[in-house]
Amino acid sequence: MKKERVLPWLVELSCVNAASLAKGRPGDLPNLIYELRQWLDLEPDEPLNAEVSDLEKKPARLQAMIDRVAELLGAVADRKSFRADYSGGSVILDAGKLGSEGGRALSYRDANLEDAVLRVALDDLYEDVEAALRIQRCEEPECLRVFLAERKNQKYCSHRCANKMASRVYRKTHRKERAERERARYEHQVKGRTAPSGRVARRPRARVES
Ligand SMILES: [Zn+2]
Repeated sequence: MKKERVLPWLVELSCVNAASLAKGRPGDLPNLIYELRQWLDLEPDEPLNAEVSDLEKKPARLQAMIDRVAELLGAVADRKSFRADYSGGSVILDAGKLGSEGGRALSYRDANLEDAVLRVALDDLYEDVEAALRIQRCEEPECLRVFLAERKNQKYCSHRCANKMASRVYRKTHRKERAERERARYEHQVKGRTAPSGRVARRPRARVES
């Protein structure tokens, strides 16, 4: 996987619902697993390959892994710490792959796939700090989604959330003004009815007797 694609992909992965993906279009889940394999850049002889293939039949397992990635990216977005305890394994450096596009020089022969995924994700975040710092949490209170900002100081994940927030702020700042306007109108109406100067002595209406 190309370097520019890595963090956007991780952010996308963190939002995936494995169960609905499994029930969705037939190619969706295999595509995700294909990309996962590309991203991990596993060697053909790595035992983890089998575990990756197995995910297709185990969406719950995939979801547990995605949830951990989401937790990690959430911690990055909130600038908090994240801890992963791994259950051992080994790391192999293939110096021949150093600096090669898309290939990983480090390969993790971790005991399980979740450990490998977290370790690779941690590596990617650490390796591209500039991009990692673009991982933000949407400030729209009903959204709070983790997203990859396209520019600095981008507070909302989408135009939709930015607009929603703008109208929320508008309503809030105008609530006081509107309340004052309404009170003034009310007082005006009440005064209009009771002001002594405005009182007009009405002539009693002539009663028609039959
Ligand atoms: Zn949002």
